[in-house]
Amino acid sequence: MTVLAVLKPGGDAAMALYIIAFSMFIIGIKRGTHPTTAKQGNLIAAAGMAVAVVTTLLLDGMGNWGLIIVGLAAGSAIGAIASTRVHMTQMPQMVAIYNGVGGGAVALIAWSEIRHGISLGGAMPLEELIPTLLAAIVGSVSFWGSGIAFGKLQEVIPTKPLSVPGQQFINAILGIGVIVLAVIITINNDPPSQGLFILILVAAAILGNLVVLPIGGADMPVVISLLNAFTGLSAAAAGFALENVALIVAGTLVGSSGTILTMAMATAMNRSVPNILFAGFGGVPATGAAGTGEERPHTSIGAQDAAIKLAYADTVVIVPGYGLAVAQAQHAVKEMARELEKRGVTVSYAIHPVAGRMPGHMNVLLAEADVPYEQLKEMDEINPEMSRIDVAVVIGANDVTNPAAKNDPNSPIAGMPIIEVSEAGEVIVIKRSMSPGFAGIDNDLFYEPNTSMLFGDAKKAAADIAAEIQKL
Ligand code: NAP
Repeated sequence: MTVLAVLKPGGDAAMALYIIAFSMFIIGIKRGTHPTTAKQGNLIAAAGMAVAVVTTLLLDGMGNWGLIIVGLAAGSAIGAIASTRVHMTQMPQMVAIYNGVGGGAVALIAWSEIRHGISLGGAMPLEELIPTLLAAIVGSVSFWGSGIAFGKLQEVIPTKPLSVPGQQFINAILGIGVIVLAVIITINNDPPSQGLFILILVAAAILGNLVVLPIGGADMPVVISLLNAFTGLSAAAAGFALENVALIVAGTLVGSSGTILTMAMATAMNRSVPNILFAGFGGVPATGAAGTGEERPHTSIGAQDAAIKLAYADTVVIVPGYGLAVAQAQHAVKEMARELEKRGVTVSYAIHPVAGRMPGHMNVLLAEADVPYEQLKEMDEINPEMSRIDVAVVIGANDVTNPAAKNDPNSPIAGMPIIEVSEAGEVIVIKRSMSPGFAGIDNDLFYEPNTSMLFGDAKKAAADIAAEIQKL
């Protein structure tokens, strides 16, 4: 007990403060669904988290303040530095590592609960033991799986699928082994065995590694979202074990939103979650026509030609993709659009749901450049209008415009809905080379008769085109 212990766990005041915190989480998530309110939503959710943390610290029975202060200081410092240093394109890695840390923390909490149970002597109540075991298993899988996901995205380990013969069988044995160990601990629970508990943590750790290693880098964002849902679930389980409502509600919110996000990404790629987890897709990039390495004829133009095509158009659609994020070209593209608008050209932006490396990636970038939200058109809205568009400018996008998704049933991206730029009068593709995109496959769009390639960095190309339009 310390002087700060002013709230009774489960008491009215603590519950009221937790309810305020959850309400702020939910309002924050709701506001996050629209680009114009997303920033505010983030701040509201962060303030809600501050309320939840302070409430928990004020609970009677809080432990070692020295350790708590060191933890708070270290966590705040790392978070503050990372938020200013990490680039937008590295956000999936950052989410992976934060998510892993969350899962690891939950597994450690579960371990400490087991030790606490053992120190009290006798059997642990089942309503405490079962969620503790669940939190340990899921938290450990999530920690190690997220570590591998981080390594693949950061390219510190090979991004291609890595598997050993009989991989699925080994995974199944490990999964069943973990469940059997948990059942044994539950049955011989007087007191629970710490040795078997550690064995569960180790087996779940190997499982976390082995499940994620065979998945290609291209599918990592989906895997991270799925692991995020797992971490949420494990935190909710820890909440049941600790009888902490804040953990139960926050964990459930993370679990459900992570699941929805995973499903949304899988749907946008027209793939099932099991296919993403077990197909070993997104590994070795193929080059040239259909991966044969053969060169095909294409038309290449410069900034001046592109400026002429755009300036004399009535309607222009800009299709942004991952390369726009890499080049940080959003401001230059907005400038180019402004030059066109000055000349009476109607400009809009076509947003594919999985353009970039995370959902909403393009919306965030364009919002950063103050592109009016009304100019952003979702894929389903723009596709029917595409045949009435004079010029489509594809900037650093590749897979999300690849007609193979529609025309080639054997393509790895077959069935993925695309932005149908080929329907526009003319297409200008801005990228640095003929290299494939994230899925590692050639793009037939580049060889179509109405497509012109403008090779270069997206930011420089957009700035050059804007300058050329000014000269006209
Ligand atoms: P993409 O297919 O990865 O293509 C990006 C293109 O940008 C590359 O072909 C690259 O070509 C070009 N590029 C890179 N740096 C550039 C620069 N500085 N300037 C100009 N161009 C540059 O990207 P996408 O069309 O946005 O498709 C997203 C992919 O990620 C899809 O396969 C999707 O399934 C996958 N994915 C997305 C999410 C999500 O939530 N958004 C989740 C999971 C998977 P060069 O090297 O020739 O320049």
